[in-house]
Amino acid sequence: MFCSGCGSRLNDSQSFCATCGRPSGANYSAAPSTGVAPAPSPSAVTAPVAQQVIILKSAKSPGTAVVLSFFWAGLGQIYNGEIGKGIVLIILHAISWLLMFVVIGFITTPILWIYGMIDAYKTAEKINAAAGIR
Ligand SMILES: [Zn+2]
Repeated sequence: MFCSGCGSRLNDSQSFCATCGRPSGANYSAAPSTGVAPAPSPSAVTAPVAQQVIILKSAKSPGTAVVLSFFWAGLGQIYNGEIGKGIVLIILHAISWLLMFVVIGFITTPILWIYGMIDAYKTAEKINAAAGIR
């Protein structure tokens, strides 16, 4: 057995070279590969967080969406995360109420109201289906 650092002869019982102080063969070559801990993979750290976000974003109750839309067209859409659509429906619903003074509102309000509820229900179901929640 010879020292890998300086080449001088070593006894089998020696764990360090007497000449240069380097650990003898087996011990020395094994150290670098086992001594380094594997770096934690970034996906292992971020995966649970990403999963939580998906659940929070996707757990929509079609029932809640319909109930909110029952109170005012657009609320169910906002609940579903369709903020822009919800605001448009809220404004249209308000205009529609005002139009009741000129009769047209009696036609437009129920249409908007029913559309809001159906749309909110279907969107909530679609969001859940996309996330695998039934
Ligand atoms: Zn040596």
